[in-house]
Amino acid sequence: MDIRKNIAFFQNQLTTNVCRLVAVSKTHPVEKIKEAYDAGQRIFGENKVQELCAKQPLLPNDIEWHLIGHLQTNKVKQIAPFVSLIHSVDSFKLLEEINKQGKKLNRVIPCLLQVYIANEETKFGLDEEELLALIQSGKIAALDSVKVAGLMGMGTFTDNKEQVRMEFRGLKKLFDKINEMKLPSSVEMKELSMGMSQDYEMAIEEGSTLVRIGTAIFGSR
Ligand SMILES: *Cc1c(COP(=O)(O)O)cnc(C)c1O
Repeated sequence: MDIRKNIAFFQNQLTTNVCRLVAVSKTHPVEKIKEAYDAGQRIFGENKVQELCAKQPLLPNDIEWHLIGHLQTNKVKQIAPFVSLIHSVDSFKLLEEINKQGKKLNRVIPCLLQVYIANEETKFGLDEEELLALIQSGKIAALDSVKVAGLMGMGTFTDNKEQVRMEFRGLKKLFDKINEMKLPSSVEMKELSMGMSQDYEMAIEEGSTLVRIGTAIFGSR
């Protein structure tokens, strides 16, 4: 894989859109990440806390690290000092813990709520009802060291492109619906994280603001 070329390709694809690239570097060594960095990429995504914490100190300080994988409450503490965005918040309990750790560090930690949009049993996330209940609850308004900055979703792993398109479209609709509601100050719907190597073009067409691309940049894992 020519990482430099791939980064240039995606940066080019994305210049005309409001969408930004999260380079998903999970399983790839820091040397590869450095290649992407040298090609101008600054946002990187990892899906495991342990791997993220091992790589972060070895790489430049101006990298924006995003956690994109499932997060356990007992691991929030490790990433709280430096993480730029957590894409995968799927419970109030987790949001509360992120708030607690953010408060200790005197920082507001940006988060996305992960929404379950796929037609699969294995994916994490809130369903629409849970999401709306969470956003409208007074509980979320009381959190002042987290910022809910939008939504994240993963499409079904399938060759059926139309199905995935409909899932993305549904998430965008939900995003717009929430944006029309009166929101607590801890919630601001700006980012819509959807789209991976297989389906990013569709995701952009359907309104993504953050695509999470691994394989198409770094090669297969
Ligand atoms: C691994 C991963 C990606 C990137 O997937 P590719 O198919 O390699 O582009 C995106 N999002 C999440 C949550 C991931 O775990």
